Amino acid sequence: MSGPGAIELLGMTRGQLEGWLGSRGVKPFHARQMMKWIYRRGVDDFDAMTDLSRTLRSDLSETASIRLPGVLSENVSTDGTRKWLLAVDGGQAVETVFIPEPGRGTLCVSSQVGCVLDCSFCATGAQGFNRNLTSGEIIGQLLLAQRALGDRESEGRAITNVVMMGMGEPLANYRNVVPAMELMLDDYGFELSRRRVTLSTSGLVPQMRRLGDECNVALAVSLHAPDDDLRDELVPINRRHPIAELLDACWEYAGKNGRHITFEYVMLDGVNDSPALARKLAGLLRNRPAKVNLIPFNPYPGGRYRRSSDSTIQAFQDILHHQGLRTMTRRPRGDDIAAACGQLAGQVENRITSPLHAKRAGAAQ
Ligand code: SAH
Ligand code: SF4
Repeated sequence: MSGPGAIELLGMTRGQLEGWLGSRGVKPFHARQMMKWIYRRGVDDFDAMTDLSRTLRSDLSETASIRLPGVLSENVSTDGTRKWLLAVDGGQAVETVFIPEPGRGTLCVSSQVGCVLDCSFCATGAQGFNRNLTSGEIIGQLLLAQRALGDRESEGRAITNVVMMGMGEPLANYRNVVPAMELMLDDYGFELSRRRVTLSTSGLVPQMRRLGDECNVALAVSLHAPDDDLRDELVPINRRHPIAELLDACWEYAGKNGRHITFEYVMLDGVNDSPALARKLAGLLRNRPAKVNLIPFNPYPGGRYRRSSDSTIQAFQDILHHQGLRTMTRRPRGDDIAAACGQLAGQVENRITSPLHAKRAGAAQ
């Protein structure tokens, strides 16, 4: 067994693993063999990697490790949604959610412990920020879910899609999220196609541009309001990157990957759900590579909003449809186990209070 100081291999991209092996005088092609064991077969014990030589296996056992996050608890919803609370280093915990649907299974993956961006309707934001997850902790969520779901290489995979929509803002942790997504796409990793991996962002424009060049997976953007005054209030990062700048970056991104951007819009009763705002939203997105995903607000303890009524959501959706926009309403899944969008809380000890949060708290005094 490898001891402290062992190098962590989980989360290394193929290039990084080849580089590390090369620096130890080992042929780079062994990286592909090892990745098949780790990501396709879920093996975390070097001794079980039987197509590697005995010498290499014992060398790896002494110098390297493959450490998965520990499972603290698992909850299963009446609708089949599963949520795992995972222990990560530093006494913190994050959540991962599996959503089964006919013909596909989506894993909702966390990228940070907490989130600094402090959107006013989000349980994760309300907790503040603790730290970024490592690429190993991000890809480890797929491995653990795969193991818990009893996935076998030979049978159809339970996880067919991944959404970076769990706790945290993935583009605020670019350095670790992109290598983890490369492993999701890699032929020797999870072999998912680009259109089955979706990153959701609240709108970090510079990182969106970079992502378009470096790893253009499907993109979802949390818009939530069609004008800057309202969006400033709901998604405070809008004060830095307002709507016009955000949409420019979206159309640029869509131009690079040739696909539609999904705009997420949380339905908050009496706040952003009027017919006038629906028409304004349609005006921004009409005739663009855009589709809209309406998300009924999911309540959480201490939250200040209510979910829009079904009839209001339907009326909002009808206006968008009439304006020619592809729109669907996301059905809340797993809300009986607090696994729905925006309910993920994990366990976060806030180390950094967002300046925006401090400003708002100060203003309220
Ligand atoms: N930080 C990223 C991804 C994680 S949040 C982002 O903000 O896009 C995933 C989605 O859930 C986002 O669209 C977010 O706005 C939405 N969301 C957050 N809190 C919610 C809540 N309480 N009810 C419904 N959706 C929520
Ligand atoms: Fe962070 Fe996304 Fe929640 Fe906003 S909605 S606080 S960006 S996790």
